[in-house]
Amino acid sequence: MMPDQYAVIGNPIGHSKSPLIHSMFAKSTDQNIKYSAIEGPIDRVDGFELKVREFLNAGGKGMNVTAPFKLRAYALADQLSERAKLAGAINAMKFANGEILGENFDGIGLLKDVQSNLKFSLTNKRVLLMGAGGAARGALLPFIEANPAELIVVNRDVAKATKLVNEISSNVKLIACGYKDLTDQKFDIVFNATSASLTGELPPLNPEVFTHSGLAYELAYGKGLTPFLRLAQNAGVKRLADGVGMLAEQAAEAFQWWRGLRPSTSSVIQLLTVPLK
Ligand code: NDP
Repeated sequence: MMPDQYAVIGNPIGHSKSPLIHSMFAKSTDQNIKYSAIEGPIDRVDGFELKVREFLNAGGKGMNVTAPFKLRAYALADQLSERAKLAGAINAMKFANGEILGENFDGIGLLKDVQSNLKFSLTNKRVLLMGAGGAARGALLPFIEANPAELIVVNRDVAKATKLVNEISSNVKLIACGYKDLTDQKFDIVFNATSASLTGELPPLNPEVFTHSGLAYELAYGKGLTPFLRLAQNAGVKRLADGVGMLAEQAAEAFQWWRGLRPSTSSVIQLLTVPLK
């Protein structure tokens, strides 16, 4: 039988770990799929949309979406999940009866990694989420569902964080602020969902926020000890983590959505882990 076709689309795409991850999942669950990497064109306005339609029309079953197309994929989808709507971006598509269903598994993948793999519960904790871009937006709803005591979203552009927080009605104490407003604030868990580490930068974070922190989590992966993680380590935080587990868990969520069964993520995490030093 011909394998079912899946792909990840992005630009650039050469660095994507998704083909490797999904082929490992397929092998371990005995699923007959082919998962490829597609470079989405950025030289014409509808290049991404045409590529997706081409894949769908050729019988493709689903796609992952990575930078810079998550917002365009959101606009292209015919149906969206609640968390995708709040995130305003999608990272997975399923094709059914010619329609495109959109999902965002980044946030739920992050929560799974923290709670199931790292065994850190967010319940009743004071949580700091740095950043208000796509990854932070995706994390917000799953984080709220974990019922933290307080969830603070800090961003350089404070208006962006405020807008995000105002879009949500929740029983959880949810606050948006700027980095200067964090004086004398301490958190049990700190997440870096900014893209600062991708360019070796450090957000203007006062290390006092880590005074009681049990975990500092960097969403970027494969970068070793980023400036954020180093700051946390120097402030005495015992557990440091990067986004490799999040990457594996969001992939497992997509795989389950497409194939109806959830693969184990441990060998993927083991293979892709880069030491934090
Ligand atoms: P976006 O471009 O959507 O958002 C970037 C965010 O970073 C903004 O809030 C921006 O603030 C902030 N920022 C950038 N530079 C700095 C800086 N020097 N100081 C303070 N804030 C800064 O990025 P994404 O949300 O898509 O990605 C964020 C991170 O999450 C990246 O590291 C990415 O690799 C990671 N990620 C990991 C995944 C995984 O599976 N592990 C999946 C998806 C993302 P402002 O609004 O003020 O400009």
